[in-house]
Amino acid sequence: MQREELARLLEGGLSLEAIGRRVGRHPSTVSYWLGKHGLTANGAPKYGRESAIDIADLRQLLDRGLAVTEIAQRLESTPSRIRRAMKKAGLASRQERNRRLVRAALARGDRVAALVCLHHGPCDHVLEGRGSYRCMRCRSERVAEHRRRLKRMLVAQAGGCCVVCGYDGHPAAFDFHHLDPSQKSFELSLRGVTRSARALRAEARKCVLLCARCHAEVEAGVTSLNVSVLA
Ligand SMILES: [Zn+2]
Ligand SMILES: [Zn+2]
Repeated sequence: MQREELARLLEGGLSLEAIGRRVGRHPSTVSYWLGKHGLTANGAPKYGRESAIDIADLRQLLDRGLAVTEIAQRLESTPSRIRRAMKKAGLASRQERNRRLVRAALARGDRVAALVCLHHGPCDHVLEGRGSYRCMRCRSERVAEHRRRLKRMLVAQAGGCCVVCGYDGHPAAFDFHHLDPSQKSFELSLRGVTRSARALRAEARKCVLLCARCHAEVEAGVTSLNVSVLA
């Protein structure tokens, strides 16, 4: 349909529905023409907004694991319109997709399944317990956060500063130095095996807190620990 004719009908105050009836086409088609010619519909832009959802964009956001509410925000639409567009285009939500993938993975007996995480998008999930898969990235982030918390707690318990130079900065910059190496049960690096907080606290009590630089100097024998610290 020509731009001039459309513009004339719009100026006459006709709605998308009215124009559609007049030219024997669906209002969404009229809306498409309007968009093409850069014209704006009269009255409620119902059809205009619904047809404005770009299916390619929608598919891409769904593939990334975004929730319907978030997709609605990004595409400046509403969750119900997004759901309708998904249904029309045969697109599944993250949960629906995951349910299908989990059923298939369990049936095959896979230990690792490629599912879509709410936080990380598509990534490997590992089978945990009875038939539930957990995002491996979420899991390692949780372990890392747990370790950081433990380290903060141990550093605070050990006085929060280097016994040699007094540095009291970031917990990551501290080491636990065993005063009596024969008493050492394990290294307190917190990198390897996860131990109970109680075992870690007990081990930390056999140590002094050193900043990484002083620790390296003590180990190299160029700095000696003050005797009063050892008492
Ligand atoms: Zn995750
Ligand atoms: Zn120091």
